[in-house]
Order: sequence, then C-alpha cells, then structure tokens
Amino acid sequence: MTAAAELMDYDEVIAKFDPVLGLEVHVELSTHTKMFCGCPVAFGAEPNTQVCPTCLGLPGALPVVNETAVESAIRIGLALNCEIAEWCRFARKNYFYPDMPKNFQTSQYDEPIAFNGWLDVELEDGTVVRVDIERAHMEEDTGKSLHVGGATGRIHGAEHSLLDYNRAGVPLIEIVTKPITGTGSRAPEVARAYVTALRDLLRALGVSDVRMDQGSLRCDANVSLMARGATEFGTRTETKNVNSLRSVERAVRYEMTRQAAVLQEGGKIRQETRHFDESSGSTSPGRAKETSEDYRYFPEPDLVPIAPSREWVSQLRETLPEMPWVRRKRIQREWNLSDLELRDLLNVGAVDVIAATVDAGASPAEARAWWVSQLAQEANTRGVELADLPITPKQVAEVIKMVGDGTLTNKLARSVVEGVLAGEGEPAEVVEKRGLKVVSDDSALIAAVDEALANNPDILDKIRSGKVQAAGKIVGDVMRATKGQANAKRVQELVLERSNA
Ligand SMILES: [Zn+2]
Repeated sequence: MTAAAELMDYDEVIAKFDPVLGLEVHVELSTHTKMFCGCPVAFGAEPNTQVCPTCLGLPGALPVVNETAVESAIRIGLALNCEIAEWCRFARKNYFYPDMPKNFQTSQYDEPIAFNGWLDVELEDGTVVRVDIERAHMEEDTGKSLHVGGATGRIHGAEHSLLDYNRAGVPLIEIVTKPITGTGSRAPEVARAYVTALRDLLRALGVSDVRMDQGSLRCDANVSLMARGATEFGTRTETKNVNSLRSVERAVRYEMTRQAAVLQEGGKIRQETRHFDESSGSTSPGRAKETSEDYRYFPEPDLVPIAPSREWVSQLRETLPEMPWVRRKRIQREWNLSDLELRDLLNVGAVDVIAATVDAGASPAEARAWWVSQLAQEANTRGVELADLPITPKQVAEVIKMVGDGTLTNKLARSVVEGVLAGEGEPAEVVEKRGLKVVSDDSALIAAVDEALANNPDILDKIRSGKVQAAGKIVGDVMRATKGQANAKRVQELVLERSNA
C-alpha cells in the first residue's frame, strides 16, 4: 500500500510535469459465435460448456475467420475515421498463460485492419479534444482464471486456480490511441471522456454490449510524465483492465501523482503493468512490461490474409449510424433541453431509454418525467442502470398512453409501473390483475358521491348556496372511497350535478 506521502500534490504535479496518455481499449464483439470457431458467445454460461477443439487449441484443429467480426472491425475503423487496410493478416502473439490454451493469441501485429484515425471527445465544459487513433486490430479473448482461497482474488495468496475457457476465442477489437499530449491538468478527465465517447460510439454501432462491469469493454491506461517543456516522453506504466469510467479517471490521476513523487526524489519509473484497486483508488505493481520482441510475433500460417474489397468497405460505410454526438445535439433541439438538462439526462443514462419511449409513441416531456422520477429512484435502489430495469421503453409508453386516454390516473399508473417492475407482466395484465382501472362507470361513482354528500350535509348546503369550492372535500372523500381509481374530473362534475338534484 502506498502511503499518501509518496504521492505528490496534484497542483504541484501539473506545475512540474506534462502528462502523456496512451489508452488501449479492448471491446468484446457481440457476435453469435467466436472469432475462429462456431462456439457460441454468451456471458455467464456454465464454465467450459462453450468450447471446441479449435478454441481449446487441441492439436490439428484449424481456425476459420468469423465474417461478422471482420465486418464489425471495419465499421469500427470507419467510425473512428481510420484507413481500412487493403490487405492485412493475423499474427501469433506467443506467450504462456494458463487461461490461453493455444499458448499463443491470434492477433494482428504490424498489419492491423484499421489505422490512422481520430475521435473528437467533448469534455464537460464543452471543450473538444481530438484523440488520434493509432490502430484498431482484431484478436481473440483469452479464457478466465479464477483464483480461489486468497483475500484479493488475485493469484498471490490463492490456494488453487480454476480455468474457464468459455471466453477463449471471443472476438475482440483492440483500439489503441497515439500518445495524447498537451492535456495538462485535464489528462484524467480526457481519459474518462475518451472511453465514454468510444463506448457510446460502439454502442451506437451495435457491435458490442460495452458493459465495463462484465468486461466486454476494458481499458488499459498508459501514463507517463515528462518535465514541463521537455519533448522526450518519460517511462510509462500500464494500468490494466480498469473496469469503470470513474476508475479510468482515478487511475490516471493516481499514477500521475505517484510517478511525480518518484521522479521528484530522483527515482526512476519502472516500465511495468499495474493493477488498479477500486477500494483504495491506488495502483500496485504487476509484471515488468514485455516488449514486442518478447512475443516472437509471426504471421499466422493457418489463416489466409484478409483483403476487404473497396466495394465492401463503402457498403459498410453506408451502414454507419448517426454518430452519438450528432444525435445528442438533435435530441437536445427536438426535446427543447438546456445544456444542463441534457447533461443531467446523459449522466443518469436516460437519453436512450427516453428516446426509445418517444419512438414508442410518448411525448418527450412525459417520457422524460417517468424515467427521471420513479424509474430513476428504482434504478438507484436496485443499483442498476435505467436500461437494465425490468421494464421496457415500450411498456412505459403504454402506461403513458393509458394515462392519456383516461384509463389510469397518475397514481394508478405508478402502481402499474410497480407491477411491471415486480414481474407481474405487461402493463395491461397488471391493470387487470391489480384491478387498477379508473372507475368510469357512473353508477358506481354516483353511489359514492351520494354517500359522501349524505355524510356532509353542511357542505352540501354550501355547494347549493353557490360555494362551489366546497365540493373539493366531497371529491376527496370519493377518491378515497374508490382508492384513487376514480377520474377526479368526472367526480367533480357528478358532485355538482348531484348537489343540485
Ligand atoms: Zn470453439
């Protein structure tokens, strides 16, 4: 554990050093099958049930490239403004690790499918930073090790390890930035904003479910410092597998303050991988970083090169969706939102669900009202994202429609939403099962109104003498008597009618 004294104050870091970032993002593609075999890609299956001789690296098994994965790689490259290689190959990256059954990872080395792009990233205050993209290449994921018996879940101190090869061979795209310089004190914020923008882009492309918590989007953050005004980069560390947006920002910031303290004391930064610890917000050393020579890369002899035709590439360009930042601007205009309102919606992840609710027929204002109130509270209580609540935008739109046509009051509608969240079925079923329909049958209402009037003769007199506001008390009694299932406007009409009868 690093003591606080071993960190430099952040303002002092910025006064003395310029940070340089390099971000490597791995994204698991949500293809049906793996990169080089027909095994299904499914998160959370029983260990070692989604495997075959190819992804287990058994002798004689031969890989076949997944065309959809190549298509996704090209679309990602195009969305990141990259050039798409006319010809590229896979390479073997040789190393031993128990979760990698072949003892090499099939990856791309000096011939990536996409290269030389950029992504414009908007910071909270509207500043736009252009992040240059070095490459986006195809590879396969490794299996997973589960270290049992230790306190940390890491291999140190574990009693034994379990291996699950379900993930071995899942298609991955690795997106690597060029060194990001000149961001100064905003480096941690830029890192976070870049990963956020990239995540949104990948989600819009529909190529991955981009769940950082499940590891389908993972970020390695390279950080180094150089003395203010210097031109030669310092030695970098690589903090591996940071698994939330907030952690990306914290990890970069921590490394800046740690490295600055080491350099200040005349020490040297060791080129190494580091682990980020969520609870302490600190990083700790991993293995000394290999250089590419250590991996003995060579072209994969079992796969033919990939030569995407220019026609195919331009067809794929046509499939690119509206970019998230363009869509955001459009939505802001169409929904008539201030910058602050839009940012609030973005921060709680509400824009997509609201947009989908609007697409299903609700007005933007009503859709927004539901998702930022009751549903936001529910998501908060459950500790999940809005999009992961067990209610769909379509169901919310149905509830809104029922309020609109008078089938439900707002209060009843909240109860319907509760029922849907509790798994009681579609909104119409919940209305039926819970008996939530507005009582629009006049005879039932008239009986309740007459009873309330009979119980309050003084009020009846007031109403008859023209003090119409007094009717409010009777309306309230009727609403209580019908458990809120009456249409208040109709009750009001009936009270006046019955009083004068
Ligand atoms: Zn397989």
